[in-house]
Amino acid sequence: MPPATVIALLLAVALGWALLRLRTHRRAVQALQQAMIRQQRLLRDDLPAALGGTWDALCEATGDLLDETARLRQLRAGHLAQLEATLGSLREAVLIIDGGNCVVLANQALQEIFPRATRILGQRFESVLRGVAFLNYAEAVRRGTAGPQQEIEFVEAARSVWVEVTGAPIPPLDGGKDLWSLFVLHDITRQKKLEAMRREFVANVSHELRTPLSVIKGYIETLADGHREMPLDDREKFLRTVQRHTERLNSLIEDLLALSRLESADPGLRPEPVSLPALLADVLADYRARPAAAAHQLHAAVEPNLEPLPADPLKITQAVENLLDNALKYTPPGSRIEIGARAHDREVVVTVRDNGPGIPEADLPHIFERFYRVEKGRSREKGGTGLGLSIVKHIVQLHGGRVWAESTPGQGSAFHFSLPAASP
Ligand code: ADP
Repeated sequence: MPPATVIALLLAVALGWALLRLRTHRRAVQALQQAMIRQQRLLRDDLPAALGGTWDALCEATGDLLDETARLRQLRAGHLAQLEATLGSLREAVLIIDGGNCVVLANQALQEIFPRATRILGQRFESVLRGVAFLNYAEAVRRGTAGPQQEIEFVEAARSVWVEVTGAPIPPLDGGKDLWSLFVLHDITRQKKLEAMRREFVANVSHELRTPLSVIKGYIETLADGHREMPLDDREKFLRTVQRHTERLNSLIEDLLALSRLESADPGLRPEPVSLPALLADVLADYRARPAAAAHQLHAAVEPNLEPLPADPLKITQAVENLLDNALKYTPPGSRIEIGARAHDREVVVTVRDNGPGIPEADLPHIFERFYRVEKGRSREKGGTGLGLSIVKHIVQLHGGRVWAESTPGQGSAFHFSLPAASP
């Protein structure tokens, strides 16, 4: 055989052998890859026999690595379970995120503030706690530049949720390099609402007091400067105006004091067995004698056999009078006003009904709010303070009852309140 043919033959055999080895190694690499994916140890039997001993050390090393990873994962799950059990019972909401902003832990209290947080684990926190403010705060916590606490507003389905957040970086429980962050969130929505209500109330009171005061001031100044040369009629007119506005100031202050007493820790409730038919008959007799009610028709529709119930007679009288005053103020002369009382379930329902102009549907849900008036001008002109119905609501709620109104514009209004009947 010529030497060139021998060399070619030898080369062909060497190539065939090399290809065979390559295929065997490729199969081994694939087996290793599968073992890593399944997180299972690679056994020597899973590898092609032709590999020889070279792969034994690699199999051993990857097997140990997988065992260590599994051990660490179990340890981490154990730590997290322990942490979850501890934090789960806390009333404060707790959130832990990893270095990539993914949620590692969110306790039950967090889900109560953010109902959508039930499926937040493993997700980026921004999917539930949306807003730039919290994102910035989380970044500041990670950098160690965050202040001790921050108040943050979240808007959840058109509803504002205010939380006070305290955050701190913590060592990662997975043994990784990136710091985790722990946040404690305290729901302060109620406080914020109360603060806003208080601010609004102070602004309303100031506005209500300022109007009559500036009228009084203006008229008194004019009188002081020019009463000597002023015609007697003008002087009397001025004094009557001052008197009217002083009366308005007086009713406003009386209503404010009544409200603040009703809202105080000791609202001064003096309950005793009260016969509603007798109480309502007395109120009606008193109103029939008043000149302000002379042009109205007053009627009673009270069930006569109502059992006495525990109530403060003075406060219930005030509630009924406020409703009657409104019926007189807001209905034209000749209108019919009826006071009713009837037993219903374990309650007695008192109703003051009129056939006046009624209240538009859009205003009805607000009329028990402080200073809410359907027609501002008309209420003031009639001496209204905007607090009458709010006082009724407080009195009724202090008795454990409910208050509500119905109205058909153009046909009239009915104001109802319920009082719990005496226990058998
Ligand atoms: P006010 O001092 O202005 O009467 P209230 O709190 O007693 O304040 O009542 C709130 C508003 O509800 C009133 O300003 C008036 O617009 C409306 N309202 C109350 N009672 C009646 C009624 N019987 N008929 C029509 N509107 C009424």
